[in-house]
Amino acid sequence: MRPALLHYVHQLADDDLPAYIYDLPGLREHIRAIRAALPERIEMLYAAKANSDPQLLHVLAGHVDGFEVASGGEVRHIRGLFPDAPIAFGGPGKTPAELDQALNAGVQRLHIESEHELRTLTTVLGDRTADILLRVNLPVVLRSVALAMGGKPSPFGLDPSHLDRCLDIVAADPRIRLRGLHVHLASGLTATAHLALTDQVLAWAGKWAHRHGIDLAEINIGGGMSVGYAHPQQLFDWPAFGAGLRRALARHPHLTLRIEPGRAVTAYCGWYVTQVLDVKFSRGEAFAVLRGGTHHLRTPAAKQHDQPFEIVPDDSWHQPWDRPETRNEPVTLVGQLCTPKDVLARRVMVDRLRVGDRVAFAMAGAYAWNISHHAFLMHPHPTFHHVNDAETPVLDTHACQTS
Ligand SMILES: *Cc1c(COP(=O)(O)O)cnc(C)c1O
Repeated sequence: MRPALLHYVHQLADDDLPAYIYDLPGLREHIRAIRAALPERIEMLYAAKANSDPQLLHVLAGHVDGFEVASGGEVRHIRGLFPDAPIAFGGPGKTPAELDQALNAGVQRLHIESEHELRTLTTVLGDRTADILLRVNLPVVLRSVALAMGGKPSPFGLDPSHLDRCLDIVAADPRIRLRGLHVHLASGLTATAHLALTDQVLAWAGKWAHRHGIDLAEINIGGGMSVGYAHPQQLFDWPAFGAGLRRALARHPHLTLRIEPGRAVTAYCGWYVTQVLDVKFSRGEAFAVLRGGTHHLRTPAAKQHDQPFEIVPDDSWHQPWDRPETRNEPVTLVGQLCTPKDVLARRVMVDRLRVGDRVAFAMAGAYAWNISHHAFLMHPHPTFHHVNDAETPVLDTHACQTS
């Protein structure tokens, strides 16, 4: 944790905990580095569902080419914050009302997930036009990824065998402009794996377009850039990815290539800070019970991993009995929920952990608070803090966010 953030954690009152702390300068530095590693011709959208906190989005807005959204709610949220930002609207099960809303909001690209969705679009268009990408579930080979959305039977995107019928619908409707293809096939891809996938996608798309006499202007190769929860220092290799994309672009001088990462952009800027409420031993195993839990930070339960953390010792102890603690042994960090699934990290070695010590969970900036089941057990919500400046952090927001 950066010294400025650590300082901030020390200043939080017990009543502020649990707290989400967002490191805005850290995010700014990170997105600048990503952008600098990518060829200029690459268009980068940020996948808003990873974390749509307005202050994070404002930091990102100056460095990305727009936002990828996956619901009418996200369309409204992004349009409300950024009246002019390019938006791409993807995701399965778009309702007629959402399609209509997206067209009214001036969404730049619709990512069409099925033939039925395309037909539905024709019924809501009226005298408007739409620029679309067909999302296709390509028959690619995916090796060891965290989450596969494609390359196998999946509710996402179109089967390649259904693309032709979509082409007929587009050909019959001058209001719809087919700009190209969209693929988001997996998450947890290393740079090497993502580039290999991109090569397969470009080869397939090139042949398909040639066969149908289509001028393929754009390909969106999705997000899914890996982060390492077990190794927080190992970042996605953006420089290698950028170099690979540069080579791909050189082979396709007229193609617009677009990416839409979420997790790898915002995961690192968020911390979930809490406190040890109890330390106990069950059949010889140590458990630390923390304020809060997976109803605030569902990520480790959803992904079945140990959320990385740092211990921030707090030496104050005012009770007349011995302070409960565990030393030099594995400890399981759990929350306050009455379910064995409320585990944030399992059997992790610690030097010492005591009741009252603070625990700062790292990599809580993406798919964290916003994917958690806040209402379960009716515990208080965390407080939210946006650290603005590296040297003099500002205690700016104590307001509770709703989902
Ligand atoms: C979720 C999603 C993304 C972002 O994925 P990350 O793993 O967060 O990078 C991009 N595109 C689509 C279509 C998605 O559903």
